[in-house]
Amino acid sequence: MFDKLPYEIFEQIACKITQEDKISLAYVSKRLYKLIVPFIYRNIYLNETYHVSGDYDNSFGTCYWSVLTFPFINEDDINIENQISNKELAKIKFGYLVRSLTESPSRLCPLISRIRCTWHLDEDVMSDLLKLLSRYGSNVRFVDQFVRESVNDGLEPLSNQLKTLTLTPPTILPTHDGVYSSYLDRIDHLYLKCDLTQLEKLSIHVNALKYFKSLKTPMKIKSLVLNLRPDTLSLPGYDDTSENIKEIQYSDIFDTSALKQLEILSWYSRDDIPTANEGGPDSLYIKWGLEGFWKFHKLENLSLASLVYNEYFLKGCLVAFHDLKRLKLDYMGQFEFDVSLIRFLSKQKCGKKLQRFDIHCELNHQLFFPTADNPLMRLNFDNFCPCSKCKGTIHEVILKKVFPETRQKLIKNPSMFQARNFLYHMFFQYKIMPYTNIIEEIPAMGWDCVPIEIFVRNFNRNLQEINKVGKTSSNNITREDAIRLYHLYLHYLKDVFNVFEQSFPDLEYLTINGIPTKIVQVDELQSCAVPLFYNEGYKSNSVYELVDSESLFM
Ligand SMILES: [Zn+2]
Repeated sequence: MFDKLPYEIFEQIACKITQEDKISLAYVSKRLYKLIVPFIYRNIYLNETYHVSGDYDNSFGTCYWSVLTFPFINEDDINIENQISNKELAKIKFGYLVRSLTESPSRLCPLISRIRCTWHLDEDVMSDLLKLLSRYGSNVRFVDQFVRESVNDGLEPLSNQLKTLTLTPPTILPTHDGVYSSYLDRIDHLYLKCDLTQLEKLSIHVNALKYFKSLKTPMKIKSLVLNLRPDTLSLPGYDDTSENIKEIQYSDIFDTSALKQLEILSWYSRDDIPTANEGGPDSLYIKWGLEGFWKFHKLENLSLASLVYNEYFLKGCLVAFHDLKRLKLDYMGQFEFDVSLIRFLSKQKCGKKLQRFDIHCELNHQLFFPTADNPLMRLNFDNFCPCSKCKGTIHEVILKKVFPETRQKLIKNPSMFQARNFLYHMFFQYKIMPYTNIIEEIPAMGWDCVPIEIFVRNFNRNLQEINKVGKTSSNNITREDAIRLYHLYLHYLKDVFNVFEQSFPDLEYLTINGIPTKIVQVDELQSCAVPLFYNEGYKSNSVYELVDSESLFM
């Protein structure tokens, strides 16, 4: 039946279904195979770590991108001999893709339009892929998210058809050396070869204000990734400070009405940040001329990553960008959750339009665990959600399994508190949340995360060690317990979620400290955040049962 649909309808469906469903369709019939294969190869995400599909909305990311699928390998598991590493497995999978393309290059390579790389892809396999695409990839338009110069070398034959340009850095990580002129010559070569009239996305690792001097008209690009690095702030030969030359601003380089997406990513390490004597961290905003972006009123998408927080700059952006729909704030160092900042944003024009918000901030949790520093503190659940599920989790999991001892015993051995800190283990030590980019909606990746079963095993092992009990202790937590603890934490954050839910009427996705949620409408008046991962029947505690006059008497 599916293969009898008019193509236009089939196309609409194919753009909305998961990668898994697309692959299943390919096996149904020859005709469906022919129809669906172009959608499988169109946008390829080359991942070097395992992909985690969400249980709440498993089409997230993969309705658009196709990823290399492979499972997580627990490299610490000594019971499995001769197992390969996650990195090797990723390389093998990447190799399989290139092998498939090599077997029918003129059929498959022209289907590829977009390739999103990741930084540590195997260089040899990548080089093979680029050779193939140079010859057969007649429809490749976008290749980005790489930092190695060798990728640009491989892309050179495609330079007149690409809509992306990455001016790669001199070295992957910044050094304390300045840049050499030979490096700038290579960048010049790339830049001169590119057709600026068709360029849509530019990623730049050198100081644009110094580098682009002789532009006649601003570039009409849609998307800019600006990498701030201490080694490419000054460019030898470009540092002409004679007074006759007008200071260049970003609006002289990029068309202010064309640019829709801006990502500013700082590569400054803590040691590179200017000290108070050197002007403090705010001086970096001035050196890189970032306030110049306030002129880009049409921006819809803003990501600030690894910069030191500067309230003045951020508020200027929020006031200026009336059409902002997606915002990511991931600062370096302390950035405390500030309700007044969220209220300020909600009062701006863009506050009414904001659809996706990704924020990393210190939540000032009131500690409820005793710690080695403060062993006399009692386990404190005063600020917890009073719902029956949370009460159950506190009694059946936290008190019975995680902290089963009497208070006296606990105080005698305070050094063991950390082993019981399930939040620390769940979100830092054996992180269960995959990296999810809600801003660009790319498939979730398990960069530094483990499946929840591994968290459970490791957490139990720690408990067994400090309690000196056997592996089959009745105090072991189960996978279900772990999910209950995770849901308890989400309920604990009710007030934080409420601020976002109530401030932004159009919010669709919200990520707080790496925990991605989707905002769902519960009834006419209420919406709430539900987790994308380990959702498993989650019910929000920020929704009230509305009793209307009719149901009252039913
Ligand atoms: Zn609750």
